[in-house]
Amino acid sequence: MLITELKNKETILSLLEGKVFVIVCHGCREIHFPEHEADALLAELVAGGNVTGSITTDYICNVDNLKLRLQRHAAAIDSADTLLVLSCGVGVQTVAGLYPAKRVIAGCDTYALPGFQGVTPLEYDCRQCGECYLNLTGGICPITACSKSLVNGQCGGAKNGMCEVDPNMECGWERIQRRLAQIGRLDVLKCPVQVRNYATDDDVK
Ligand code: SF4
Ligand code: SF4
Repeated sequence: MLITELKNKETILSLLEGKVFVIVCHGCREIHFPEHEADALLAELVAGGNVTGSITTDYICNVDNLKLRLQRHAAAIDSADTLLVLSCGVGVQTVAGLYPAKRVIAGCDTYALPGFQGVTPLEYDCRQCGECYLNLTGGICPITACSKSLVNGQCGGAKNGMCEVDPNMECGWERIQRRLAQIGRLDVLKCPVQVRNYATDDDVK
């Protein structure tokens, strides 16, 4: 099970550039989703005049379902510079995978809760680390895509693009660098060193 919390509003606003399309996922809200905060943020963005459109739907982690639901918003998405996603980390990665050339912003942090996790064949993985890094990594999760869960770049051990820990796996940080280059955001790698807050990560407590 998981909980999503909205990131600090100032942080979210500082990440939005140009016109914005907003995607809100209510898939796991039985547990906890910041529904009222998300509605208030959306209303504020709409009032600001920079929103090309929005959709509130369920289970954006299901790629086929998401594609269908976004079809009728294609023009609004095309005209947006930024896609703001309010969901768990899997939902954000699903959107980033569908729109690799767009700036996709994670508006939430995802926390783990003890209990049964629904078994779904998902394409992307989120370890619910409590401090989502997707805004610094082009929408690719460094916790799950890198064998060492590094958050400040690659370890230097990759051989021919493959991970030194698991030679059958592409180095997650090479994927991240490619994605950042694709969206013209390699400058993100120059940001100050990220000190991970391990207190939010159930796996390392
Ligand atoms: S960084 Fe990865 S593990 Fe952490 S919340 Fe984001 S998607 Fe999930
Ligand atoms: S080779 Fe790449 S994916 Fe593997 S541990 Fe190093 S940085 Fe992470």
